[in-house]
Amino acid sequence: MLRIRTLYISLALLALVAGGPGAAGLARAAEPVTIWAGNPSQKAVALTFDDGPSPIYTPEILALLHRYHARATFFVLGERVEKYPELIRAMLRDGHEVGNHSFDHDRLTKLSRPAWQGEMKELERTQMDLEVLGCPRRGQLMRPPYSAFDDRLVSYLKHTHRGIVLWSVDSGDWKGLDAQAIEHNVLDRVKNGSIVVFHDCDENGCKDRRPTVEALKVILPTLEKAGYRLVTISELLSRPPR
Ligand SMILES: [Zn+2]
Repeated sequence: MLRIRTLYISLALLALVAGGPGAAGLARAAEPVTIWAGNPSQKAVALTFDDGPSPIYTPEILALLHRYHARATFFVLGERVEKYPELIRAMLRDGHEVGNHSFDHDRLTKLSRPAWQGEMKELERTQMDLEVLGCPRRGQLMRPPYSAFDDRLVSYLKHTHRGIVLWSVDSGDWKGLDAQAIEHNVLDRVKNGSIVVFHDCDENGCKDRRPTVEALKVILPTLEKAGYRLVTISELLSRPPR
């Protein structure tokens, strides 16, 4: 289980992730490209969905997000983007954000140089796929598989003007929990600026994500009633602290 921690993000980085000053600014941003949570003074939460898109669960999740006026961020796999491009278009049409979760969920750490180069080629292929489908070129977001990253990946992403987005609340849906346990994991821990991770698929080819969908039917109205704005990662990070 990963230890959860929150890193303070420099204003420069906030602006960059939001599509701000560009290459020169990023090169100057001292620290770091890893983002765990947003501003604790804003009553906003970013829901994120990894490993999709799934032709079964993603449309259901999109419908639920629409019903509760929520925007979210999907960290997708390139091989699935190429299979289901219409789902990426649907996400963008509804105002959601789409980030890169690698091409086929390989671990991006502890690799030989040739293996690393191959993985980065796949990462760029995924990025190109997303750009062709309408994702913005600047301010791209990346969530590495298994949340595994090292200095080499951080440096590569920094120099290609991207940020690593992790999370502060794990729904635990990847463990095969039932809907009620997922609801508790999220609702007991969520707070201002939280980044919550769910899965609308998984790297081994869509497990049963019914519990995730069922949990969202409770989580979304509960958060809405509590007054949280449900926003994309870029929106979560776009308001500097007051
Ligand atoms: Zn994943």
